[in-house]
Formats: sequence, structure tokens, C-alpha cells
Amino acid sequence: QFVTMVAHELRAPLAAIEGYLNAFLTGVAGEDPVVNRQMLERAKQRSHSLIELVNDLLSFIKLESKRVVRKKELLDVSEIIRNTVELMKGQGDPKGVTFEADIPDALPLIEADRSEMEQLFTNLVSNAVKYNRKNGKVMVTARPSNNCLEIRVSDTGIGIDAQHLPYIFDEFYRVSGPETRYTTGTGLGLSIVKKIVESHMGRIEVESEVNKGTTFIVKLPIKESKSQ
Ligand code: ADP
Repeated sequence: QFVTMVAHELRAPLAAIEGYLNAFLTGVAGEDPVVNRQMLERAKQRSHSLIELVNDLLSFIKLESKRVVRKKELLDVSEIIRNTVELMKGQGDPKGVTFEADIPDALPLIEADRSEMEQLFTNLVSNAVKYNRKNGKVMVTARPSNNCLEIRVSDTGIGIDAQHLPYIFDEFYRVSGPETRYTTGTGLGLSIVKKIVESHMGRIEVESEVNKGTTFIVKLPIKESKSQ
């Protein structure tokens, strides 16, 4: 079933690229260099999204594989979260999206794979930018709560209708509508996020209101230090 889904996802961009190149090579597109250039630009955009899809697929497969050894270590994720927010600022600029981060200097330690944590927060913050409005805001907070570290990534974006919420963590699921028509994505980001959270014995929740915004809440177990 998964292979069928992947084949379908690969087919559309490949067919589009073939179509653009065919039109260019057979001259159907005409002689206008501006039109020809536009077609090649579109073919390039579609190849770029194919590369993103393949990268997400590789991450997904790696997380599924039992043979891949996780490099779990005791981590204070405050710096990873702060760095992720800094790196994402460039993505927010064209839309005027601003960031607020309320992360203590030091957080209780968790046992985690550093690169998977980077991927987890990058995916959530990147979605918070992507599905935000012009001049919107992204807020990231982290604090200990009971025996968990609770990280919240909130945005003031388009929100997710309740009917879609149960499916957004499914592979390749994307909400289609006028708001997301021009937003590209693979539909794998949140399924990767969920896999990472679960492989760290954590939980993820989502709260959302259409036209108001969305909050993803990640809870990861705090590793008790033996000396305490
Ligand atoms: P994509 O590559 O499409 O962003 P994801 O798996 O990351 O895939 O997300 C699945 C779908 O969930 C998205 O297509 C979008 O419709 C919805 N979504 C995810 N994050 C947000 C958010 N912060 N605000 C609104 N919708 C979101």
C-alpha cells in the first residue's frame, strides 16, 4: 500500500516535468524565449519538489528501519530549539512572519537523538511558517511539566478544520483548499514528526482553530538523573 502511495506521489511531478520538456523539445511551446524559459523554470520547480519528496521518503524509511541505530544521548534541547528558530527566520522573512521563543537557558535532560530532535523541531516550525498568514507570528515555548518536557509550537495561521485533524499525521495527507493551493509539501513532514516523538516514548497533540492558528504540543519524558 505504501509503495502504491509513493508511486502515485512520484508520478504527478514526473509527468509534469516530462510534459514541459516535451513541449520545449518538440517546439509546441512556440519560439517565444520568455514562455520557453517559464516552462523550464516550472520543470525545475517540480524537480526540486521531487528531491524534497525523496529526501522525506529517505528520512521516513530510516525511521522505520529497525537496523538503524539511534544515537541517543542525554540532551538539553533548549539550544537545539533556539537554533532551529534562528535558522527558520529566513523562511519567515518574505511573509513578514516574526518569531517569539520562550525557552529557559537550561532544560531538564531528555534521552534523545540530536539529529532527530533537529528534524522534529524544524518540521514543526517550518509548517508554522508555511501555513501562516502575512505578518503572522510563530511562538515556541518549552517547559517541564510533570515528568515531561513540554514543547509548544504555535502559529497565527490558517488553522486546520476539525474534520482533517485526525488525518494530518498520516503519510501523504495534505489539506487541500484555496488556502493551501500554492503551498508545496510532501505530506510526510508530520508523519516523520510523529515517528520521532513515538520512538522517544513521547506524545504529540494538536489544537487548532480555522483562521486563528494551530498549536502542536510535544511531550518528551524527562530522564531522571540517578544521583538525585
Ligand atoms: P506538508 O509537506 O504538506 O506540509 P505535513 O505532513 O507537514 O505535510 O502536514 C500535513 C498537512 O497538515 C499539511 O499539508 C497542512 O494541510 C496541515 N498542516 C500542518 N501543519 C500545519 C499548521 N501549522 N497550520 C495549518 N495546517 C497545517
